[in-house]
Amino acid sequence: MEPLLDTFGRPLETLRISVTDRCNFRCVYCMPKEVYGRDHQFLERKELLSFEEIARVTSVFARLGVRTVRITGGEPLVRRNVEHLVELLHAIPGIELAMTTNGALLPQKAEALVEAGLDRVTVSLDSVDDATFRALNDVDFPVQKVLDGIDAAAAAGLRVKVNAVVKRGANDDGIVALADRFRGTGHTLRFIEYMDVGHTNGWRLDDVVSSDEIVAMIGAVHPLDPVPPARPDETARRYRYRDGAGEIGVIASVTQPFCGGCSRARLSAEGRLHTCLFALKGHDLRAPLRLGASDDELADGIRNIWRRRTDRYSELRTAKTSGLHKVEMSYIGG
Ligand code: SAM
Repeated sequence: MEPLLDTFGRPLETLRISVTDRCNFRCVYCMPKEVYGRDHQFLERKELLSFEEIARVTSVFARLGVRTVRITGGEPLVRRNVEHLVELLHAIPGIELAMTTNGALLPQKAEALVEAGLDRVTVSLDSVDDATFRALNDVDFPVQKVLDGIDAAAAAGLRVKVNAVVKRGANDDGIVALADRFRGTGHTLRFIEYMDVGHTNGWRLDDVVSSDEIVAMIGAVHPLDPVPPARPDETARRYRYRDGAGEIGVIASVTQPFCGGCSRARLSAEGRLHTCLFALKGHDLRAPLRLGASDDELADGIRNIWRRRTDRYSELRTAKTSGLHKVEMSYIGG
């Protein structure tokens, strides 16, 4: 089959699927309580794509070249019986299946997820300091429970990555402690630059701790060597501990944007296709799906959207664009 390429020649390889806009955390930079309080209107159940609808759309994406599917949210583990979705997606041939989660429910869910066919999990964890972590998640959730979730995932046989978003003044004093905690565990730790997306009104470049700074901080304590990229669309720059204790990665989405290799599409919980994390408007796939479109018709629709794709927000980011309204991270899932 002829590869599907966008206007910059980028293939469609990865699909990130948000399965809910709800979350059990209220991370201050993502779902602040002032916005996501008691009376916040989350999507209604009938607005969400059903698991069968998600699986159907995903099988069409797989036909178009998608090889990696990542389930995200909101918090994917708060969607009831999400392991059933994992089972349905696992049945699509040739797909590697990952999930991004805050890890809070992993102790209860890890085994069921593995049985259903999940291959790997990324756990978001911005600090291993309990007080800092509780302040960041803003629901007083103890860090130990997330660490237990990571252990449960590994024990169940999942490959584990840990992602930490770094915001200056919020958790940058805990970068080396995070590195220390995961050195030698076999889990990959990645640091992500704080982006101007979602509820980051007042986001300033000064809030961003650059990947270079992060590498220098860790390297000063544990010497590091760069690892050449394994794939052209790799988002993380990787470094290996010289003493053999494993690897870290840094995702420099702000200071060294990588739109050139971006092969990701994002499907919102209500079935809107976004071709960039920063694209405010998605393309509605739910309507054709519910109006009885055939797989060929859905594939044609997606093909047309991808072929016209011109997004490269991060590379074009300027002081002006960073003030514009952006899609919610809790809606599109990062
Ligand atoms: N609830 C799941 C989780 O915690 O991983 C999945 C959804 S969450 C929106 C996905 C990731 O986006 C989290 O790692 C979160 O820290 C990250 N995120 C949210 N806002 C961000 C921002 N402004 N810059 C960078 N990452 C952000």
